[in-house]
This record gives sequence, structure tokens and C-alpha cells, in this order.
Amino acid sequence: MTESIQQKCNLKDLTRTELVAMLAGMGKERFRADQIITWLYRHRVKNIGEMTNLSRFFRQQLNEVAAIELLECRAIEIAADGTEKFLFQLFDGSCIESVLIPEQKRLTLCISTQVGCRQGCRFCVTGQQGFNRNLKVGEIVDQVIQVQKHADRLQRRISNIVFMGMGEPLDNFAALVKAIEILKYDDGLDFSSRRITVSTCGLVPQIGELGAMVDISLAISLNATDDETRSRLMPINRRYNLKTLLTACQQLPLKRSSRITFEYILLKDINDSLDDASRLVRLLKPLKSKINLIPFNEHPDLPFYRPSKERISAFQAVLLDSGLTSIIRKSKGADISAACGQLRGKVGRSN
Ligand code: SF4
Repeated sequence: MTESIQQKCNLKDLTRTELVAMLAGMGKERFRADQIITWLYRHRVKNIGEMTNLSRFFRQQLNEVAAIELLECRAIEIAADGTEKFLFQLFDGSCIESVLIPEQKRLTLCISTQVGCRQGCRFCVTGQQGFNRNLKVGEIVDQVIQVQKHADRLQRRISNIVFMGMGEPLDNFAALVKAIEILKYDDGLDFSSRRITVSTCGLVPQIGELGAMVDISLAISLNATDDETRSRLMPINRRYNLKTLLTACQQLPLKRSSRITFEYILLKDINDSLDDASRLVRLLKPLKSKINLIPFNEHPDLPFYRPSKERISAFQAVLLDSGLTSIIRKSKGADISAACGQLRGKVGRSN
């Protein structure tokens, strides 16, 4: 991106209310904000000049203070199962990844919220990279726009958004909430709440805040059934232990039909015993939950292994026998390092 664009405001960073306020400062009517939102998210224009129902003079005025920032797609990798991984370059040279997962009835896009991550989960490649910076609102939303442009060619529409890519979404809270608001505009991208899922490693204060502010699906990355193991795998557990986390989940205002998804990465000889399964039942029985079991995707940089199929099935059987809902999630895109916990992107400047 050019220096001049960096000095201007990126229109995709603004919610409708913020856009209305900015335009009011230019003496423009409220409905102009609606027009701009339609151009940005329905027509997905690349520059202000394409907004042809705004007068030429207004477009010139707008161009002086604002711009449309676009993520630059540097690479697309396609896995044998059809999963596609997008490498996007940001204005500062950092790169992030987004993953498009095609299924018969859904087309799910997994998006990133940070460059790197500061949570340091031991089983996650992103977590081993360290943290560079939060993504801005427009950088979060533009992942959806750019990938949808790609999906247009396949004549498919992204049906679900999951905030499970690089970074801890709740650690970039303000931008997350604004990005969700923008994704839901019915004159824009028009995603309904039930098609948006935010996954967190367990930032307890923000879980409560998010539950009070937006109506979306929540996923908790749990991965252990005792504090000692969880703290070893996920440093966040030293701040908010299992009891604190699960109490916060219990207090969330959930609609009658909705349940919290608990993600449980199965790691050989670490958290995959039948005792673990029984403890998981005891922990989650009081909650409205469903459990996604995710057999670990082995990676040369990580010191963990995937349990055998028999062990995974035996673990799930304990959950099912107790009446809990549980699925074993098929690994998608592992051959291109696009599976859960394998995203790397690039931290820092590229030359
Ligand atoms: S699992 Fe999520 S929260 Fe943990 S290090 Fe990886 S990206 Fe960060």
C-alpha cells in the first residue's frame, strides 16, 4: 500500500455509526453512509471512484480523507480435500492466513484476528511465533471479501465464518466486535449471527463481555480436564483456571437452542485417557455443550502426536455413553498446513 493511503482513513475500518459521523463532519447526509456500505460490502469495489451513485465532487472530497485498503493475496494453496489456504500480505509486510473449507452444504471461512498470537499454546504453530500486532477492523473483514471474490468464480457463497485462524480473537476485542457488526450488515455481507463462531482459549472477562454485546456462537478451546495439564498446554489457564472458565461459560446468556462448542485437541498420552474422558463428562455435564474432538495434526515443529483411531473412538464413546453430544472433527487441509493449529503466516516486515 502506498504511503498516502496509510495516512488516510480506511473506510472498511469504520462501522456504520462511525461512517455516519465522519460524513456528517463533511456536511453529508446519513443515507450516504448506507450507499458507501453497499459499495464496499455488496459490490466489493476496489476504490472510491467506482461508487458511481456519489457525485464526482463528493468522490473527490472522500478521496482526500479516505481510501479502501485491500489485502494482497500472495499465495493460495489447495489441499487434496479441496481446502484452500490464502496467504494475505498486510500494508506493513506481515502476512496472515485464512482457510476456506468446502463441504457439501457449507463453505466455511476461518479468519485471523492477529499477526501471531501472545497466548503461546504449546500445540499451536501460531502460538510458537510470538505476537506482532492486532489486525485492524478492515483487515479482518477484508479476508472475507477477498476470499468471497475467489469463491465467486466457483459460484459459491461463504456460508459460515469462524474466528479460529491466527491469533486470539478476544485479545483484539474492540476490532472483533466491530468486524462482527460489519459482517452482519444486511445491505452488505449479511451474515446471520448463527453463522458466525468465535473461538477463544479462555479470556474470561472478555467472554462475558462478548456474550452481553453480540449474539454469535462461542467455541472454547479446552484441551485438558485438569488444571495442571491445561496450564502446561495453555498458559492462559494460569490466569483463568478451569473452574473460572467453566463458571463464566455457565453464566453466559444463551438462547434456549444454543450450546457452547468445546474444542478438545486429542494429544497422545497427554489428554487422551479414559480418565480424561470421564473428567470431561463431569466438567461439561452441567453446561449446554457440544464437544468437537480434534485428533492432533502432527507438525515437525511441535512435540506432540496423534492418538490411535481406537483410542480416539474409545474416548468419544465415554462422552456419547454419558449423553453428551460429541463429534470427531475430520482434519481438513493438513497436507498444506491449513489444519487447526497449523497456521503460520509471517510476522514482521517482508523485503
Ligand atoms: S491456539 Fe489460538 S490462542 Fe492458542 S496460541 Fe494458537 S492462535 Fe493463539
